Amino acid sequence: MKRIIVLCLIVLASFTVTPALAETVVLTDANPDFTITTGTTATVYGTSGANHITIESGANVKLINFPGSNTITIKSDSSKFTVSRSGATVTFKGSDGTAIKMSATGSAQMIVFNDIEFKLIIRDGNVFLGSDIVTKDNMPISSNNIKKTLFIHFYFFEDGEDSVPYSIEKTKTMVEQGDYSILSIFSEISYDKIQIQPTYMGLFSINKPKVDFQNEDPSGGTLVEYALELTEANCQLEKFDIVIMMLPHLDYGYPGCQAYQGVVTKIINGKEYSGQYAWLSGNDYGCYNKALMSHEMGHTFGMGHASRIMCSLLHSDSEIVIDNLTLMSLDCEPDETPTYFVTGDGYGIMGGYRGHPTAYQKIEAGWIKDSQVEIINNTSTIEIDSYEDKTNGIKTIQIPLIENNNGEYISYWIEYRTMPIVDYDDNGNIIRETNQIQIRLNIPKLIDNFGQTQENITLSFGDTSQSKMILRNIGDSFNDPYKGVKIIWEKVNSYNTHKTATIHIEVNE
Ligand SMILES: [Zn+2]
Repeated sequence: MKRIIVLCLIVLASFTVTPALAETVVLTDANPDFTITTGTTATVYGTSGANHITIESGANVKLINFPGSNTITIKSDSSKFTVSRSGATVTFKGSDGTAIKMSATGSAQMIVFNDIEFKLIIRDGNVFLGSDIVTKDNMPISSNNIKKTLFIHFYFFEDGEDSVPYSIEKTKTMVEQGDYSILSIFSEISYDKIQIQPTYMGLFSINKPKVDFQNEDPSGGTLVEYALELTEANCQLEKFDIVIMMLPHLDYGYPGCQAYQGVVTKIINGKEYSGQYAWLSGNDYGCYNKALMSHEMGHTFGMGHASRIMCSLLHSDSEIVIDNLTLMSLDCEPDETPTYFVTGDGYGIMGGYRGHPTAYQKIEAGWIKDSQVEIINNTSTIEIDSYEDKTNGIKTIQIPLIENNNGEYISYWIEYRTMPIVDYDDNGNIIRETNQIQIRLNIPKLIDNFGQTQENITLSFGDTSQSKMILRNIGDSFNDPYKGVKIIWEKVNSYNTHKTATIHIEVNE
């Protein structure tokens, strides 16, 4: 009797355990896509091109040799997952039993969950999932959208606490109150994809004489190092995704405001800190405002500057060098020279300190999905959604022009902007410009007329007769005879919740 019971248990056990199906899959250029079904354990060898792998809930997958711009679709919600890394190998673990091991590379790979998608890429020596750095510790992916942001305040001991124009209360008002608060700006421009969660600390005293910091490189000298050490000692940097340091006035010898951001992996007070920070300082405390703060925070999401080249009476000594491109469309008057303005694009926070960042930059930040980008290589007619609305339609048209030596494309990027950008004319009257088609280029590397290198910017060519890169009226067109591209604004379509623009693009093939 006893024996039979034991036997029964064994039989039962062999029926309830689902046998794991271990597979080895080798993809080819002809068959670059594959689906791994629920319950399967698989090792998949990719190709050098773009592979598309679909992973069903509960699959256990190892991806090997995937150097290209792949898309990994995970049929599950991101909130069930954690992410960690060991070297460049990234592990995604789901509470639904899904497990994925894959390598991050210098090519952007899309990780697409049911609810959200992220770019996985190695940049500046760090592995990024969206705008977050992946660490050795398991990190819930849901927290990826919440940006714990520290606003920390400093003053020079020799000047006294009352010398600075800011306080925690004032910063809090700027960050949290009103229509153009930092919180509302970021939820609006990210289409609610991120949420800034603020913490305020300070005032902390810098107990070193000012002369110790004088006459040094404003973009990250010892004042910043010193403030980071104070921040680490008082607040622990690793608790935050973004750190905004309000530094006191220091005369660097030139006017205006200075600001800096960077990805830092450094030892501070004996601890390794890996993150991004921006700092605000400058003569006249020119940086202490919402516009500049959101600009610096934009950098911490990986965005470069939104620049502009215009015909100008300002003297420009040296030429502006753009990868593989000449200044083809600028036709300046004899007494004018093309002049480069690093933050001269007035239509986004990464340029003129107001408005939505450009489409190219939102893609960098992960706020525009791949499916919202229409890539055009042939003559086509496309309908795009109003850019600022939280809709799921096409947000930008990309017309690839040139691939540079690093395999990066320079493209035209088209947006349909419908929201007013508030500006003031010479008499102080408010100007609101709405309903425009805006066209820009992305430039991987540009050497400006001061000999400084600007990385990864977007460029507008102003509004000269030959280079009309802002179309203000239906029927207006932009023509680039050199690259054989013509962009015509055909019409506007109104729906219940939003507007779209129909754009006709002619490409010389
Ligand atoms: Zn900047």
